[in-house]
Amino acid sequence: MIELKKLTKQADNKLILLGVDLSIKKGETIAVLGPNGAGKSTLLKVLATLIKPTSGHVLINGLELRKKQIEIKKLLGYLPHSSLLYDHYSPLENLVFFGNIYGVQDVEQKARKLVKDVGLSFFLNEPVKNFSRGMIQRIAIARAIIHDPEILLLDEPHTGLDQGAISILNNVILSMKDKGTTTLMVTHDFKQAAEICDRVIIVKNGKIVDDFRIQNHNLGFVTEKYELLVEGVL
Ligand code: ADP
Ligand code: MG
Ligand code: MG
Repeated sequence: MIELKKLTKQADNKLILLGVDLSIKKGETIAVLGPNGAGKSTLLKVLATLIKPTSGHVLINGLELRKKQIEIKKLLGYLPHSSLLYDHYSPLENLVFFGNIYGVQDVEQKARKLVKDVGLSFFLNEPVKNFSRGMIQRIAIARAIIHDPEILLLDEPHTGLDQGAISILNNVILSMKDKGTTTLMVTHDFKQAAEICDRVIIVKNGKIVDDFRIQNHNLGFVTEKYELLVEGVL
């Protein structure tokens, strides 16, 4: 469903992605792990059509990914590193605004349901400027999925969240998975990755250096392997 072929990205004479090849099947939930500066966010931004690759291809359902192709953009949901919500607007207003961009039907009803799903019904009409990081992140994820994307791109969604917000976030991601959504999630949190993902790719110096499945029977093994990767032994 998603095919990356010899993808490269260069900026300011610096090679950020050095030829990434990756095949992702529909419905996979993939954790993207790796050290700081490895190119993880850049990879997600290319997929989100925020930046253009220098060379190589991204195919989604066999079609070349292009910024202006609204039909493909509708398939994508993106949760950036720090999310951009309108400060002075409420969760409901923020979600209706972004839903309208995608032409979501019955947008207000949908927005109300999502605010409830992320446990913030109480704050439906409060301006988000006073919200905690966890509350903002719950609204940001609701925003990323208001148009029922087929592909969900999450950049460090768990960072800085309390346990309550983490469970809500994981439940939302798992319920999207039940609907057949394909997810790529950049994270430094292997525990969360192991909880919700079925595959891990490790990015280092702009390349994929490892790619393995997580299953119940090999969880101990992959945890050990991940720890060795983090320590730089592998
Ligand atoms: P990660 O998300 O894995 O921490 P990034 O994809 O954000 O890494 O960045 C990878 C490397 O590319 C970093 O060294 C970063 O400073 C550099 N980089 C990212 N974007 C740009 C840019 N627009 N111009 C120049 N360098 C960039
Ligand atoms: Mg980083
Ligand atoms: Mg990053």
